[in-house]
Order: sequence, then C-alpha cells, then structure tokens
Amino acid sequence: MSILDIITNAYTGYARYVWHEISHPSWHNYFYWLVGLSLAVWMLEIMIPWRKNQSVIRKDFWLDAWYMFFNFFVFSLIGYAAFSDVVVHFVRQGAAGLLGIQEFEIFDVRGWPAWAQLLTLFFVRDFIQWNIHKLLHAHPRLWEYHKVHHSVEQMGFAAHLRYHWMETIVYRSIEYLPLALFGYSLTDFFVVHIFALMIGHLNHANIVVPLGPLKYIFNNPQMHIWHHAKTLPENVKSVNYGITLSIWDYLFGSAYIPSNGRDIPLGFDDVEKYPSGFFSQMTKPFRKRGS
Ligand SMILES: [Zn+2]
Ligand SMILES: [Zn+2]
Repeated sequence: MSILDIITNAYTGYARYVWHEISHPSWHNYFYWLVGLSLAVWMLEIMIPWRKNQSVIRKDFWLDAWYMFFNFFVFSLIGYAAFSDVVVHFVRQGAAGLLGIQEFEIFDVRGWPAWAQLLTLFFVRDFIQWNIHKLLHAHPRLWEYHKVHHSVEQMGFAAHLRYHWMETIVYRSIEYLPLALFGYSLTDFFVVHIFALMIGHLNHANIVVPLGPLKYIFNNPQMHIWHHAKTLPENVKSVNYGITLSIWDYLFGSAYIPSNGRDIPLGFDDVEKYPSGFFSQMTKPFRKRGS
C-alpha cells in the first residue's frame, strides 16, 4: 500500500467511525457523553450562574462549541485511536528490542483489580498532564499554541476545549509513553477520559462548585479562573496548572487563589488583538510574530 492509500484509508475509516458514533448512541460513546455532559453543565450555568450578568450564550460560545466537537471528538480521537496506538506499540517493541527483553512494562498492572488500575492510571496521567501544562507555559514556542486556550475572555464550560490541535499532539505523545510502561491498553482510557471531561467542563463553568476541603484534591472553577487571569502580581508567575486534580499545585507551591476571582479580567497582554476565528487562531502560531 502506498502512503497515500494508508492516509486515505485512515481518513475514510475515521469518517465512517465518526458517523457510526453519531448514529449509534450507547453508554460507550464519546459523542453522546460530550453532548450530555455539556448540556448538563450548561443547565447548571443557566440555573445557578456565578457571574449573574454574563449572558447564557456568552462571547465566543459557538466558536467554543465548534472547538469542543473538533478537539474532543474529531481531532483527539484520531490521535487517540490511531496515532497513539501506533506510537505506543512502536515504543514498546523498540525498547523491548533494544533491551533484549520480551515486554517493556516496568510492572504489569493487568493483574490488578480494575478499580486499582483505573485509579492509578488516573493519578499518573493527571500528574503527567500537570507537568505538560507547566511546560506549555514555560516554553515560548509551546506557549504560542497554548495561547489559543488563554484567549478566552469570558469564561464558560465550553472554553474547556478551546485549544490548538498541536496541544493534542504534545499531550498525547508525552502522556502515553510513560503509561505504556504500566501495561495499560488504550481502551482502558474511556472512563478516565469521561471523568476528566466532566471535571474540565466544571473547571471552566460559570458556576460555584462548593468542594469544601475536597478543593485540595480536585480542581474547580474558583481555582482555575486564576489560571486564566490576564495579569498577576510581578512576583507571581503562572499559577494553578491543575487539569483534573489540584493536589499537584498545592504540593509544589503553584496554588494561588488570593481572592474571589469571579470578575477578574481574563486572557493575556493584548488579548483584544488576538485573532477571534477558528482558522485564524489555528494558523496564528505558525505566522511570524506581530502578524
Ligand atoms: Zn494554561
Ligand atoms: Zn482553562
């Protein structure tokens, strides 16, 4: 098969898969979980809004709705189903070959009870993601991609999935490799993925999530809004990198909630001049600075 055949097959196969998901609702269906969770969190925003003067259809709502579909479903699953499977397989085979061993796992979790596997997977993955998120802020080139997420000026649940597709590549490449060491198969990710989707939606939602002491474990909108703060005091760099869990920020000293962040300005310097459409935001990091 030529490379063109492989690419064409991958895309027509994927298009068929996307359509199959949409036309066959089930409990193991990403599309309907995304739609269902989005509607549920949106209902909460309508019933118990944190910023009461914010419109129900806030600024960029439809742009972000498109990002949700594109990033979570169309693009993420291409990486999830095809790309990462291949990469993980290759790395395991390659490393095993290099080391002259049969299997590459440090320890094999497949003998553990399902709940213990999932819990470990969830913690390890979240910690890796926390580190990747820090990297996105620290590395100037990566920050250009991550800026898309930080271009949100009015916060709401759909902003969760506004990000450049390059982030998917960075996260997937880095996060799956260590997980391959534990012997996870990628089908195990469904529950973890959906749980992370729910917490991520809530983190960006225009609601108060009263967690009590659980705020030291789980990320929440009252914490994550400070991650999106347009300006921070000079001695404070970026803060609150938590994705699903807030523990890492509390453990490593990057937790920062100086006051109620309900009405703080969001974004970055000159966010007003940042492109506002999907295609212009996708191409922005590839264009020369200042253009
Ligand atoms: Zn960020
Ligand atoms: Zn965010």
